[in-house]
Amino acid sequence: MNATRPSLISGGSLCGRAAAWGRRHMAASTDPYLLRTLLWCGRCDVPMHPHPHCGERTYKCPLGCRKVPLSAEAIEAVTWTAAERRATLSGIAPPFRKSVLEQLLVKVILRANAPDDLRYIWRT
Ligand SMILES: [Zn+2]
Repeated sequence: MNATRPSLISGGSLCGRAAAWGRRHMAASTDPYLLRTLLWCGRCDVPMHPHPHCGERTYKCPLGCRKVPLSAEAIEAVTWTAAERRATLSGIAPPFRKSVLEQLLVKVILRANAPDDLRYIWRT
């Protein structure tokens, strides 16, 4: 199934990645879910959904393949660390991180039920 969101693959942010951190590409986000559009279920190949659960931010597969909601904080922290290895991201304030990740990543695929079992599809 291909449910790629058009907003991520169209537009000008694909070209000129060297200048990607220029102000014009940086948009502040108030979305509490850093990976709302980027995190995919590796089992079902569908985007995972933000899912507030008992006061905690989690992500959940919409097809229900995982019984346990996954901590958004852990997955986001691991992904941001991977992004920091990929690009120079020092000094990027949290509101801008979503924008930065959307420019760096096509998707993040969650394989098992662990935040460190992620596969990254980077934009090239
Ligand atoms: Zn699934």
